[in-house]
Amino acid sequence: NKTAKIIDGKVFAASIRQQVSDHVKLLNSEHQIIPGLAVVLVGGDPASQVYVRNKAKQTREVGMRSFEHKLDESVSESTLLDLIVKLNQDPEVHGILVQLPLPDHIDSAKVIDMIAVEKDVDGFHVVNVGRLASGLDALTPCTPLGCLLMLKDLHGDLSGKEAVIVGRSNIVGKPMAQLLLRNHCSVTVVHSRSQNIKEICQRADILVAAVGRAEMVKADWVKAGATVIDVGINRIENNNVKPRLVGDVDFASVQPIAGAITPVPGGVGPMTIACLLANTVTACCRIHDLAAPD
Ligand code: NDP
Repeated sequence: NKTAKIIDGKVFAASIRQQVSDHVKLLNSEHQIIPGLAVVLVGGDPASQVYVRNKAKQTREVGMRSFEHKLDESVSESTLLDLIVKLNQDPEVHGILVQLPLPDHIDSAKVIDMIAVEKDVDGFHVVNVGRLASGLDALTPCTPLGCLLMLKDLHGDLSGKEAVIVGRSNIVGKPMAQLLLRNHCSVTVVHSRSQNIKEICQRADILVAAVGRAEMVKADWVKAGATVIDVGINRIENNNVKPRLVGDVDFASVQPIAGAITPVPGGVGPMTIACLLANTVTACCRIHDLAAPD
């Protein structure tokens, strides 16, 4: 009875943070540059507060500067845009991240597109999206970048592999498709209007689930030996019991079929912040016209 290799995102993320930390030391000793990441949080959403706190902590741990800007829920769009302009001009800031979602009275697309392209470490600016799609150097969204790094670590060359992505969001599904296409996979993206999702998933050598539906991907959706990357984070509330986190993949039933699988938690999740730190170093190097890490 062969079961899937469990891909340890925590260990992999730690190795990426180590590489980032080494690069930060080098930038400091050879060029007297300290990369800086600014994170902007609007309002008091508890989940966003936790993310922002973790981002700041890990930023400092790898030796970078962390700038946190917490704005009131009622802040006006123009005040937020003014802050972005200030951060764009600040030479100590190499990466800018605006924590999403923003309150309804603020136009997120407008805010994101105000971020200087070279400091857009989330990779959501339309220019970075277009550059990624055109095969040019681009800052790339952190979660799909983390997934790609895990896939390359596991397989090396991805050429010719059949990849299926469930979900087409701008944050995960679409950039994931671009990254896999760039790495020479045959890519299919399915979504809420797709037909025969199960049959399409059965073709996949690489199956990425980014849907936000607890344990949707079942064992009979998965080809024997496939690599399954589970991006989903779903909280299951249970009366009187501590809420538990599950992915978009039914881990228990899929593990005996797949060749490799990421767990939730401890798979894709830890990779996201590690890739944010890596993107900040990349942005810093490009801004200073220095060689960026691979
Ligand atoms: P979105 O809600 O933005 O997108 C979900 C996608 O899934 C949409 O494209 C939607 O289709 C599709 N979908 C919804 N229901 C179905 C269905 N029944 N069948 C097929 N497709 C369906 O979510 P995100 O992409 O932002 O996030 C996806 C998941 O990943 C969430 O659980 C989120 O919490 C998690 N996540 C985890 C991160 C991490 O660091 N690990 C980072 C970001 C997200 P349509 O477009 O037609 O509506």
